Amino acid sequence: MYVGRLAPSPTGLLHVGHAATFRVAHQRARAAGGRIVLRIEDLDRERCQPEFEASLIDDLRWAGLDWDGDPVRQSERLPQYLGFWRTLAQQGLIYPCRCTRKDVERAISAPHAEDELESLYPGTCRPAGAPPRAEVSPGEINWRFRVNPGEVVEFVDDAQGPQRFVAGRDFGDFLVWRRDGVPTYQLAVVVDDAEMGITEVVRGADLLKSTAQQILLFRALGREPPRFFHCPLVTDADGHRLAKRAGGHSLKTMRESGQKLAG
Ligand code: GLU
Repeated sequence: MYVGRLAPSPTGLLHVGHAATFRVAHQRARAAGGRIVLRIEDLDRERCQPEFEASLIDDLRWAGLDWDGDPVRQSERLPQYLGFWRTLAQQGLIYPCRCTRKDVERAISAPHAEDELESLYPGTCRPAGAPPRAEVSPGEINWRFRVNPGEVVEFVDDAQGPQRFVAGRDFGDFLVWRRDGVPTYQLAVVVDDAEMGITEVVRGADLLKSTAQQILLFRALGREPPRFFHCPLVTDADGHRLAKRAGGHSLKTMRESGQKLAG
């Protein structure tokens, strides 16, 4: 049985690019006779706002989309994320990191194209031997997943074709937990996709590299990853990717000014 998801973040207003991706996700689930869940990715307490959440529900309905069951909020699932943190810690797959870098701030949200400038983590806190095992709680420190340099992650994306990433070259040791007690996007999304039984992830093509990292977390969890379908990004007339701050393209503005969504 196909299970898909709509996974918006209430960190800004949705725009026509989101609508395009969510429509594909919805259409693929319904065409397969499957279910689609609405998961609100609201871990970033500083950037998420109630009015964005209210608006996204109205926007999705206005775009003609529905979903099965009640929306799920990531902010209500911390125990599940902590459980996976523990699994990783007990296997010695993650290590505490004292570095204060820009990527720590950013890791709570999905890394879209405008965030791509982050360089590989240089490994400052990476332990030489196996990281200590059997931690019981993360404490007030950041945690990184230790990648095996040279490990190849390959998958066939149902929209973009075969993909190949190399750990240590395309991405380094990535954050899974922040010292403020919140899991990163990469960890939360894998726990959710696994536990919700998601069979296909439909999202924007700027998250292909995240998919490679997530596949490593699925391996650590001992779970089969879902299938992936990364939609081409919608750009504006100048070829720039639409960002949430691009107010003119927001679904709310269109909805409230009586415009129609094309297609
Ligand atoms: N909440 C993420 C975003 O809005 C979704 C990423 C995903 O689909 O995994 O970018």
